[in-house]
Amino acid sequence: MAFVNEWFWFFLLIPVAAVSGWVVGRRGGERHSDSQVSKLSTTYFRGLNYLLNEQPDKAIELFLHIAELDKETFETQVALGHLFRRRGEVDRAIRLHQALVSRPDLNDQQKVQALLALGEDYMRSGLLDRAETVFTELAQIDQRAPQALKHLIGIYQAERDWDKAIENATRFEAATGEPMGKLIAQFECELADRQRASGDIDAARAAIARAYAVDSNSVRAGMLEGRIEAELQNDAAAIRAFERAARHDPDYLPELLPTLLASYERSGDTTGARAFLSEMSEHYRGVAPVLALTRLVEAEDGVPAARAYLARQLKDRPSVRGEAALIDLALAEGVDPEATLHDLKHITDQLLVRNPSYRCSRCGFGARTHHWQCPSCKEWGSIKPLLNYAVV
Ligand SMILES: [Zn+2]
Repeated sequence: MAFVNEWFWFFLLIPVAAVSGWVVGRRGGERHSDSQVSKLSTTYFRGLNYLLNEQPDKAIELFLHIAELDKETFETQVALGHLFRRRGEVDRAIRLHQALVSRPDLNDQQKVQALLALGEDYMRSGLLDRAETVFTELAQIDQRAPQALKHLIGIYQAERDWDKAIENATRFEAATGEPMGKLIAQFECELADRQRASGDIDAARAAIARAYAVDSNSVRAGMLEGRIEAELQNDAAAIRAFERAARHDPDYLPELLPTLLASYERSGDTTGARAFLSEMSEHYRGVAPVLALTRLVEAEDGVPAARAYLARQLKDRPSVRGEAALIDLALAEGVDPEATLHDLKHITDQLLVRNPSYRCSRCGFGARTHHWQCPSCKEWGSIKPLLNYAVV
């Protein structure tokens, strides 16, 4: 890939350098012009030849020589800096771009381009504070310098300076119209996390409110708010926050369920808990809400009711954890083992049908039967029997 990129830059430069060579030549005498142009083009063709023979280092050396002769042309110098950086010679790129930036003859657009390149050099060599200075200057020169703002957002993320990350992301959104709410909400939650850890709960709550303001679907804001309020035993507020998060993205349910259930238990609202778990079991594909609801049914209505509920649910969503819970309930109830065995057989049959028994180790394709060649990625011998403890 690096080779291809160097190619690209080399080709890009040919017309520029050829024209500049021609102009230099025209300013001198005719004879001088001819010899210079022919010297330049000879050098270029030698460089091309190196590239074609896959000797990019030699080609670059030649190109460096040409660029030395052509110090006036802005584009040549920018491309040369690019080549240095691509070869990992960041110090050389920095020196070149620093010289370029301080040139008095640049127009605004060239100045912006040179500063961007210099800032990217600094980023590459880990000099984040210098990069920050350059990109800040750049964002001032050109109010619509989205690239500079994007780099600043990256720098402040790396420095974990969330206030400044938020400020620049907001400016970026204003400049480009590209929505940044989800990202800003993450930064606000980072702030809230920090403030919570240092005991400033009011500041954490304010950051969470700002996160919601820019991303009303923020799961993280809901989970964080729920944890904070549950810790303070503000259980009604905790329940509201957790349920909001779970409704936005049911996949996070297992993460927040234990704390949410503890809040429900402290507030004695079993009816609310059962209603929410029943709602969630419609939206969440896993067995977690069903198992939690089974425990509530067991506590309120007794073991037989819980066993009947669980057995009914597991017919639609077979699960090994569900089977284990069903066996526990059957043992506790002391029911006819044959009925339980029929239930378990039914659930296990469904598990066997649903789980692929073979998987491609290259692309992850799942299959019920064995193929020597993967139907998905066409690799040979990559599909092997799956060691799935739910099945094997
Ligand atoms: Zn495959």
